Amino acid sequence: METRRRFPPPSCTSPSPAATLRSLPAAPRSSGDRIQASDALPIPIRHTNLLFSLLFVCSIVFLMRRWRDKVRESIPLHAVDLSELVSIISVVASLIYLISFFGIAIVQSIVSSHEDEVDDFLPDSKMTPSPAPPSDLAAPVLAGREDEDIIAAVVAGKTPSYALESAIGDCHRAAEIRREAIRRISGRGLDGLPLEGFDYGSILGQCCEMPVGYVQLPVGIAGPLILDGKEHYLPMATTEGCLVASTNRGCKAIAESGGAASVVLRDAMTRAPVVRFFTAARAAELKFFLEEPTNFDNLSVIFNRSSRFARLQDIQCALVGRNLYMRFSCTTGDAMGMNMVSKGVQNVLDYIQNDFPDMDVISLSGNFCSDKKPSAVNWILGRGKSVVCEAVIKEEVVKKVLKTSVSALVEVNTIKNLAGSAIAGALGGFNAHASNIVSAIFIATGQDPAQNVESSHCITMMEAVNDGKDLHISITMPSIEVGTVGGGTQLASQSACLDLLGVKGACMESPGANARLLATIVAGSVLAGELSLMSALAAGQLVKSHMKYNRSCKDTSKAASN
Ligand code: ADP
Repeated sequence: METRRRFPPPSCTSPSPAATLRSLPAAPRSSGDRIQASDALPIPIRHTNLLFSLLFVCSIVFLMRRWRDKVRESIPLHAVDLSELVSIISVVASLIYLISFFGIAIVQSIVSSHEDEVDDFLPDSKMTPSPAPPSDLAAPVLAGREDEDIIAAVVAGKTPSYALESAIGDCHRAAEIRREAIRRISGRGLDGLPLEGFDYGSILGQCCEMPVGYVQLPVGIAGPLILDGKEHYLPMATTEGCLVASTNRGCKAIAESGGAASVVLRDAMTRAPVVRFFTAARAAELKFFLEEPTNFDNLSVIFNRSSRFARLQDIQCALVGRNLYMRFSCTTGDAMGMNMVSKGVQNVLDYIQNDFPDMDVISLSGNFCSDKKPSAVNWILGRGKSVVCEAVIKEEVVKKVLKTSVSALVEVNTIKNLAGSAIAGALGGFNAHASNIVSAIFIATGQDPAQNVESSHCITMMEAVNDGKDLHISITMPSIEVGTVGGGTQLASQSACLDLLGVKGACMESPGANARLLATIVAGSVLAGELSLMSALAAGQLVKSHMKYNRSCKDTSKAASN
């Protein structure tokens, strides 16, 4: 997490209240301040853009016609009358505007996010890690030295362990040497931790520092989950016996009832910096400033320059005394989006600092975001993808597959998931075990497992429908944080699991569609998991089945028929 503090000038005199960006022309602009072409007129950017585009097109059309007539009538082209002069000036002025608005933004985005664009045009580079050492391993100073010398240097503290990759120029050899150095320093081996069979180059500078091996996790497949008319086979990385079998049983019940349906209600990653002023009144001024639609339009342009995929949706403000928390929400294409939204927020903070020079940026993340911590803000407003998923499970399926009854399920759900969680003071925990399924799919598909905290917020509802015969089950999950590009999704194993789900990498036709589909699959899998565990509880089978699958070494392949 990048954090940055700015300090206000020693003697702070608050500028006069500012309702809009353009009402502050007298504010001192630093040399690095970028004057926006959109500042040309005091109207919203989209109207300014439209106006100049129209002016450009109309003037060009007028001039072409005039010149065509002149050619026909053999009048010299350089004999320009007033209307032509005005048109020429309009063309030049609108061209300058359009180039400075779109042209500079395009050039800036190429220069400032060169890496992003490389990713965008070479999507497969994210999916297939290159076995060759990355370019930042240039000039490997220890490459020619014997392993034994390098290990001794690390043990003696002469060569830092973290520098091995760049000093040797070979990620696998660096991991091997580090491992041996650790063995000698700690006096303990790492015998059970595999070293071979992993591409250490693929994690360099992205996923894990100072690697010495990798942990093996079994991946089971549940399904097919029938969701929105499509079949999905669910990869689940877990060491909890019964989990895959139980989810599989839930999938079977859903499939035999005609499938589940899902809706993505909202799609926006958040980041909330905290800034401080000398007075609460001044902090409130910035809040009102951000709430002005004109200012929001301006700041969106600044924010969206962080990536082709970042699109600012909303800024939600909260004040604590003289501290202002600004919760930025934006769509992030197929990326989970934390890096993208953080870059956009940094752009905006830099920009508004010009108009609010007394703003002290305390932290780029002020916890109102809120990332990897239980919080009501995510539960209420959502973070990442907000998804609702439902199914009607037929009476005979409840009996045959789930071995219970609709009334027993409804009763247990009300007393356990609703009333029980209420007296426990639950925050987003109105479910039986959403986090079990979320974690297993997150690990299998290269998501950030720490985001399981808010991604598992879920309320499970069960009602008897169709004259009390069938079961309507729904799960509502407001904060599923997933991506199909970036982070751990690029690694070979995780990428294979994404591929199995048909959501590997960036969606070329509709950026963001892969990540949204993955979020609905997570929700559908949670629905299956809730159905099965709640049925086991309703039927009093939980302990029995756990004893069977957790404590025995018997073949569990028959679990689906439970
Ligand atoms: P995050 O923001 O989730 O932490 P990254 O910082 O790795 O993830 O950003 C995702 C990267 O993938 C960016 O460099 C972005 O340009 C690139 N990318 C390529 N295609 C897409 C897409 N369809 N959606 C989002 N990002 C994409």
